[in-house]
Amino acid sequence: MKAKSHREFTKLAFDLLENEIGNYSLFHCKEAVAEDCANVDRQTDLEFVNVDGDLDNPHADDGFFTDDDEAHKVEVALSITGQEPESLTTFNHFIDIRKGGGIYDDFDGYSYNRGSGHKNQNEQIGGVGIDQLIHWWFNDEYVHVPGRKWYKDCSPSVAMYSFYWDKNNYSSVAEEAKSRFPLAKNTGQTGKGVPYSVFMPVDNMARFWYWIFKRNRSVNAIGYIMHALQDASIPHHAAGCSGNWHQSYETKLDERTTSFVNDASFKSQIRTYYNRWNGEDNNPPTSLSRNDFNKIPKINWRVEWFVTWMAINAYKSYHEVYNNFNNGLTINNDNLMELTAKSVALCMLVINDLSCKESSMNFKPKSLRVVRRGNIWAIIAQVGSRQSSIARFTSNSNAEFALELIKHYEMDKKCWISKQFSYFLSHDKAPGAEIRIGPVGGGYRNKPFLPNEQYFTMDTNNLKVHTVQNTMNENRYIIGDDDHHYFDFDKNLHDALLALEKIKYFKFNTFHWVGNSNNPEMVFMTRKISMTRINPPLNFLLRRRSVHVIG
Ligand SMILES: [Zn+2]
Ligand SMILES: [Zn+2]
Repeated sequence: MKAKSHREFTKLAFDLLENEIGNYSLFHCKEAVAEDCANVDRQTDLEFVNVDGDLDNPHADDGFFTDDDEAHKVEVALSITGQEPESLTTFNHFIDIRKGGGIYDDFDGYSYNRGSGHKNQNEQIGGVGIDQLIHWWFNDEYVHVPGRKWYKDCSPSVAMYSFYWDKNNYSSVAEEAKSRFPLAKNTGQTGKGVPYSVFMPVDNMARFWYWIFKRNRSVNAIGYIMHALQDASIPHHAAGCSGNWHQSYETKLDERTTSFVNDASFKSQIRTYYNRWNGEDNNPPTSLSRNDFNKIPKINWRVEWFVTWMAINAYKSYHEVYNNFNNGLTINNDNLMELTAKSVALCMLVINDLSCKESSMNFKPKSLRVVRRGNIWAIIAQVGSRQSSIARFTSNSNAEFALELIKHYEMDKKCWISKQFSYFLSHDKAPGAEIRIGPVGGGYRNKPFLPNEQYFTMDTNNLKVHTVQNTMNENRYIIGDDDHHYFDFDKNLHDALLALEKIKYFKFNTFHWVGNSNNPEMVFMTRKISMTRINPPLNFLLRRRSVHVIG
């Protein structure tokens, strides 16, 4: 799929999900994820080595008289005239459903000779198939993978997308990689080089990045998952071939992208899929076969099944709708829409799954009261027949002041991500401003601060999750800017990243607290309009510089 399609369909998934479920924390990442998704095709994480003479170190210049092997991660010969060189990473964006069961995975990635690349090449230049041309070009090249001589992290994608333990035929990434990617000679030979290589399947890419996201909520992982789901909706990617009008097909889709994303029936088709699939499967698959196009994907399917299922459907179209491209390419618009709609709906399921789930409590500010229990004064909400504590204080005056603030800002909901982090909302928005209708028209304006209110401004755009080290030299995660820390998450990186998502989503820019700033008894955030900067008290200064920044 081309960059614009990747970008626009990703944005559409975010927008439609907002229509379905309302606020969700990842929404503020829409633009970034769409851009990442488009850039996945430009990664330089797969390296080929062009063999010249005998094998030698492709990363060293061996002098004027020797034939040097040359390593490269992009290839000009693959690019369409006038465009930037194609990145070799795209060889990992196929899943060969046409071949059937894989050698290295349930379904393998692209392979010319050990997969479907050499079969049925209808699109030709001068009587030679496109895939054949590409692999004639690369027949004196090999993929530089772990386990090979002179390897220094040249092809990280091979290590990342290997799940060699699934089939248990190899005992390490390197062992599997050496079998997948045979060495080459300086001329093309049977069984050697790129034409006999079996690239990583695109569902493995989704599986790897899903795991990365689950481990540390790195937002840049999401773009890869979206990309995999989208590429799997292209019939050629599922049939394991570069030719048969693959480029023309994607160009046509690219040209229709804008009209698709504005098409009401296209969007309602996506919503129908999403709602049909947004439930649990009592019997989720443990494997998928080429005939499983009729299975209904559900939210508890693993992300690699989503990609594989998408590809099974795309391959069905390759075979049935396009008759294996035996008669050239005539786009079937209904089918193009259907495949694309399925991939966007799957993207929505994944974004929803990855979005933050938090607990919250609604209350009526008027129902709140301060109750004393021993040396603790608590603000208690009456929610139905139950009483719940909103905040606890060491003095009656702090509790009463906090209650005044809650009422002043009309806060009616408390949300928790963890013990360390909670925030208040007013009518599901950040508290702080209000609409005022004045004699010369209405507008937003800040609610005034109460006398003795304690607060400072936060530079929201510069907030990050930092790692700092505690006295035991263990990593601790905090949210702060370059000079201050505002929230401490101890060892819980996941919660810190969730909290940062929330702060950015609601655009909180003012930090308020009640009690002593060294040990506040209640913290809440508001969003004020055009505030002059108020610096935090000294105890929010970062005493030790953060060691590194996460997101
Ligand atoms: Zn493609
Ligand atoms: Zn791609």
